[in-house]
Amino acid sequence: MTILRPKRLGLFGGTFNPIHYGHLRTAEEVVEALNLTRLWFIPAALPPHKTDRQLTSFETRLEMTRLAVGRHPRISVSDIEGRRPGKSYSIETLRQIRREYGQEWELYFILGLDAILEITTWKDYAELFTLCHFVVLDRPGYDRGELEAVLRREVHRQFQTLPEAAGFQHPGGYQVLFLATTLLDISATRIRSLVGQGRSSRYLLPEKVRRYIIKNKLYL
Ligand code: ATP
Repeated sequence: MTILRPKRLGLFGGTFNPIHYGHLRTAEEVVEALNLTRLWFIPAALPPHKTDRQLTSFETRLEMTRLAVGRHPRISVSDIEGRRPGKSYSIETLRQIRREYGQEWELYFILGLDAILEITTWKDYAELFTLCHFVVLDRPGYDRGELEAVLRREVHRQFQTLPEAAGFQHPGGYQVLFLATTLLDISATRIRSLVGQGRSSRYLLPEKVRRYIIKNKLYL
């Protein structure tokens, strides 16, 4: 008798304005560490939290993300948030994927420690923890210790600590996992600032994306 293992789908959302090696290298490491069947980068069409004047169009950010990923056996880019009108709330994306993919797929929502520490500002945030696992990536300057208090206070008092401080267990069964990935102190903000000052962004992001930015005169 063959035992069917659930398939694992990683969901890596973000503004990706632009995508850089901080996103790409960690995605590669998460796919390998968790043996994900697939990972999708999901650019937000209208990010609820970024009211940045420099917010480049969805199509442009989608194109840069596609250029960056290229052909990869397990990683691809999803335009799911561009197919919905209005602000891109993660909860709506997750509900939709849950509906379309069913229980056969385990979902892993991937995000940086900086982002999950702000989770209480997200729409229907407590429900997110009842739909999928979370994979938390370290980012320089952010403290893992703060997360426990936020989760227990704001999401569910019954969060349990996993052995070896690997993360937390929600009473509903899903986990919030810490994953030690290569710490890369790269941000899109810094890249936009370098480009704006006429300085080099080379080696912080894929060359194809860097050239696309120059060709299309982005971030000037
Ligand atoms: P910005 O500087 O414009 O705020 P960003 O570089 O943080 O952008 P986002 O598109 O906002 O990039 O990030 C999408 C997700 O990727 C977030 O969950 C964020 O925490 C994570 N992330 C961004 N940069 C890194 C990095 N260098 N290492 C690990 N995770 C990262």
